Amino acid sequence: MAHLIFRCDQTNLAMMTGLEIEPAVFERLHATRFVQCRFCGQDHAWEVVERIPEAAALMSRGATECLRRSLQSDANAARAVDADVRALYERMAGRWFRQAIKRDQPLDLEPGLTAHEGLLVRRERLPDP
Ligand SMILES: [Zn+2]
Repeated sequence: MAHLIFRCDQTNLAMMTGLEIEPAVFERLHATRFVQCRFCGQDHAWEVVERIPEAAALMSRGATECLRRSLQSDANAARAVDADVRALYERMAGRWFRQAIKRDQPLDLEPGLTAHEGLLVRRERLPDP
């Protein structure tokens, strides 16, 4: 299994979705989903990585749950043989994805720290999985 993330190439930070996926399944997905980056304001596409980048922030639980449903619908769409069924799953996936984006809270980074430093501090406080 690999981790689904949105990576910011401008700041070298990453948003973790909290979701894991088989790389082979990910490659079969038709949709590419983008998130507007909290760090630089540009849109970044999702990708899968074996290792989580050093500085990474986790999405909220509510957003992760919506994203999980979106991913499931995307996977169903990729498997669908019937064009109407595929279109239905793609619509559902898009709807869940928009819900995920809406639910995710902005980061409250500690004053005086850059986003990168703030995320490293935050990671150190998290217990090891
Ligand atoms: Zn960015």
